[in-house]
Amino acid sequence: MLTDTTSATAAEAARKSLIGLSRAELEAELIDFGESAKAARMRARQLWHWIYHHGLRSFDGMSSIARPMREKLAESYTLTRPAITREQHSNDGTRKWLLRFDDGQEVETVYIPEEDRGAVCISSQVGCSLTCKFCHTGTQRLVRNLGAREIVSQFMVARDSYGEWPSPSGERMLSNIVMMGMGEPLLNFENVAKALRIVMDSEGISISRRRITLSTAGVVPMMERCGSELGVNLAVSLHAVTDELRDEIVPINRKYKIAELIEACRNYPGASNARRITFEYVMLKGVNDSPADAKALVKLIAGIPAKINLIPFNAWPGAPFECSSDEAIERFADIVNRAGYSAPVRQPRGRDILAACGQLKSASQRTPKRVADSPTPVLSPV
Ligand code: SAH
Repeated sequence: MLTDTTSATAAEAARKSLIGLSRAELEAELIDFGESAKAARMRARQLWHWIYHHGLRSFDGMSSIARPMREKLAESYTLTRPAITREQHSNDGTRKWLLRFDDGQEVETVYIPEEDRGAVCISSQVGCSLTCKFCHTGTQRLVRNLGAREIVSQFMVARDSYGEWPSPSGERMLSNIVMMGMGEPLLNFENVAKALRIVMDSEGISISRRRITLSTAGVVPMMERCGSELGVNLAVSLHAVTDELRDEIVPINRKYKIAELIEACRNYPGASNARRITFEYVMLKGVNDSPADAKALVKLIAGIPAKINLIPFNAWPGAPFECSSDEAIERFADIVNRAGYSAPVRQPRGRDILAACGQLKSASQRTPKRVADSPTPVLSPV
């Protein structure tokens, strides 16, 4: 027997979310809903504005839509966000959310404020398949890809949290997006692309592609499409200059070798001195941090408009590495700098709440017990 609460939840679950649909899908949805093609086009535009420019979470406040229609929409559709399971604030202002989706799976999203701007670090998968040895997420199995709705929602939750609606036309706290959370975005390209097209749309969230950076461990065959179809900035998690070492610490290298990866970077559409490719390089004590490594690095990337982000290794419980000493990092940075590349040492942010690079992990498992045991219907992933 269903209790009242479970039937309320079931009614809620039966409503479809309008978040994460492309404009064309939104129009098609409204035609299914009973609108004429012409009306659907106008309605989709109105909804888009309320959902992504104003960030409304219910249909009530949509003043350009007549009340009976708002009520009708609310019977069939929802704009709710994923549940926030936990929100943590770091001493340095970094914020981290653990978000739970309809099927009980969870990911982490991080906001990293800077002086006059800030980046939201977004996850693309629950878990990750790549098993990079220094990465906490890498110890978690891949559970599934996130849908476009789940990717866009992460940014919307961050905006809700700061009340940064409607989309400001001037300065913004949440000004940038980095696809650097849990998962490998180029192994979930379709959903990531769809989500990024939504956030880039100038009548909604309106984040320019120049303020979006996608980080990949080196899924070479997808890099060209990332540049030509999305035009976002590219970051590449290099971390080693020989195939021997990279095979070990970034195992996708066994499939796509350093030479192929570098070639794909050379050919990345839109890369120029004004839009350089970022090479990320995690500093691991005694593993990849020698002056010889630094020299090999600058040789490897010669001719590519690039900057190098040196990331001090962020430890996590049970990690098999240590962070390089400050001197080793400085020496490394010096060599790279002298070769003409900018090599900022990335200041670790949010370490106290395990929100720094490579520290994200959720407890999600392939079949979480609480979902398997739950009496309420479990929705299929978007
Ligand atoms: N899968 C993508 C994006 C996620 S990781 C990628 O590999 O690029 C974001 C960045 O954090 C990557 O450069 C990753 O290599 C780095 N990283 C992972 N674990 C880290 C750790 N423990 N300390 C510092 N950086 C780490």
